[in-house]
Amino acid sequence: MSPTTTTVPAQLAQLMDGTALARRVAGETAARAAEVARRTGSAPCLATVLVGEDPASVTYVRMKRNRCTKAGIVSRHLALPAATTTEELVSTLRALSEDPTVHGILLQHPVGDHIDERAAFEAIAPEKDVDGVTLSSFAAMSFGRPGFVSCTPGGIMRLLDAYDVDLAGKRAVVVGRSAILGKPAGMLLLARDATVTYCHSRTADLSAHVREADVVVAAVGRPRLIRGEDVKPGAVVIDAGYNPGNVGDVDFDGALHRARLITPVPGGVGPMTIAVLLDQTVTAAERQLGLA
Ligand code: NAP
Repeated sequence: MSPTTTTVPAQLAQLMDGTALARRVAGETAARAAEVARRTGSAPCLATVLVGEDPASVTYVRMKRNRCTKAGIVSRHLALPAATTTEELVSTLRALSEDPTVHGILLQHPVGDHIDERAAFEAIAPEKDVDGVTLSSFAAMSFGRPGFVSCTPGGIMRLLDAYDVDLAGKRAVVVGRSAILGKPAGMLLLARDATVTYCHSRTADLSAHVREADVVVAAVGRPRLIRGEDVKPGAVVIDAGYNPGNVGDVDFDGALHRARLITPVPGGVGPMTIAVLLDQTVTAAERQLGLA
């Protein structure tokens, strides 16, 4: 009998299925939206505001509006011309903030270089800031106070919870520090007792940091920046990056053989963003209507 060689199959990471989790969250959101409508006679309402006609932004807003409709959330849309001034946008957002029939407000980013985006965001009432973009929302999140979180980091935390990832005492490395993604993701991990390191474009030796990480959150926008060989065996890898060709910020094929859990791109973090937006819209309606 000829000798046989036994090859031990490499242990592949479990995929974190954001599509399935988002569907589950959306189902719960729809049930809560229906309950709001039953008890008050009016459904939760999300106002979306789009300045100009950037094709990607048009698509994103259309997706959000479609998902609202499916969840039983009223979608009110304001399409403003590209030439809208900061003052006009601020006054539009203030009017929506004061309108009792609107429960959540989303200003689609980017708004154009001629507009003071921060001034526009700050015109959104904190109780309607379901996209978590105001300074007040960021402060509330940082201090662990009630408020709305930025939707993609909020989605990342829900994914981690759905897969029972214990964060206390773990080393988390967040690559990217944007106001909407990397920075709040790190704050949310810190609030859950992870030991958080932020990496960014000026970080020396990114690989050395990633190699130490129990949890890696990639939020950069550079295809396959995180090398598979740098992923610590058994780590949890969250890839929020979305680059042309459906490519994330992590070398997925390489990381798959080392990580314990990993988000695919697409189908990982992406679907969770809108799910959190709609969930927070219904929460905003419940609070404003005295149901929560
Ligand atoms: P961003 O505002 O451009 O920020 C990118 C961050 O990456 C910055 O903090 C930058 O550092 C850092 N960075 C750039 N090059 C780096 C390098 N070589 N090494 C380490 N860090 C580097 O981008 P963003 O809006 O946060 O988005 C990041 C990615 O997430 C994009 O692919 C975007 O498409 C995706 N995204 C996905 C969703 C979703 O729903 N799934 C939502 C939002 C964004 P500096 O601060 O030093 O410049």
